[in-house]
Amino acid sequence: MSRVAYVNGLYVPHAEAAVHVEDRGYQFADGVYEVCEVRGGRMIDERRHMGRLQRSLRELRIVMPMSLGALGVVLRETIRRNRVRDGIVYLQVTRGVARRDHYFPAPDTPPSIVVTARASIPAKVPAPAISGAAVITVPDNRWDRVDIKTVGLLPNVLAKQAAKEAGAREAWFVRDGVVMEGGSTNAWIVTQAGAIVTRPAESGILRGITRTVLLEVANRLGLTVDERDFTLDEAFAAREAFISSASNVVVPIVSIDGKTIGDGKPGPVARSLRDSFYDVAEFARK
Ligand code: PLP
Repeated sequence: MSRVAYVNGLYVPHAEAAVHVEDRGYQFADGVYEVCEVRGGRMIDERRHMGRLQRSLRELRIVMPMSLGALGVVLRETIRRNRVRDGIVYLQVTRGVARRDHYFPAPDTPPSIVVTARASIPAKVPAPAISGAAVITVPDNRWDRVDIKTVGLLPNVLAKQAAKEAGAREAWFVRDGVVMEGGSTNAWIVTQAGAIVTRPAESGILRGITRTVLLEVANRLGLTVDERDFTLDEAFAAREAFISSASNVVVPIVSIDGKTIGDGKPGPVARSLRDSFYDVAEFARK
């Protein structure tokens, strides 16, 4: 089946989907994105992802390319045309196409919008969710505004490639001994006392939608949650560790920088959060 992408108003064959060479996303990483899980053909947490998209755009003073309603139609149509039942839908908005110049282009320059969707292995729990995964740590060399979901991801790309080359699934950014987040996931630990700890999201990390939902899941399960900084040393000494994102949901971490975490096996807290995730996540209408 051939894939289809939505590019600035048109559904085009994926192989031919292209933006202009002077797109500001291409030249300046002047744009934002969202990744939403699709399950049973329905978007997970569309409302929250669209809320974060609007915030990211507002922070960068890029206008919404279309109404939320119209965007919902485009997202659904891209999912439908690609026959995605289980997978992800990707949305990117940039400040549009203009002669290369650092200053913002004329206010009437339309933003560029691209939507793609792709299937993952249908309804299969990924192997790392069962067996656990490894992370490495890297110094956090990113800019201050990582709370905005921009396409400027070069430090994340380099960190994740380093992880891959080290045989790990993710890289955790560490700043002054504190674990911030992963290259494309939020970071969590469970202390020996059984408290779930994740860093506050007011600044310094992306406020993951999965993170927000998991905090609610943990509350409903009556688990103790502590939103506070945790150090790498605390992570080494943790009973459990795990990562979260829309495309991973929850993946247990069984080693950090080659050191075994807990008993080296996925723990019960990560498992129960994963098992209850869809009780709290919102399934959008088809
Ligand atoms: N942190 C970073 C840097 C990310 O890129 C992502 C997702 O792409 C996340 C956290 C997790 O966010 P979400 O749960 O909304 O997928």
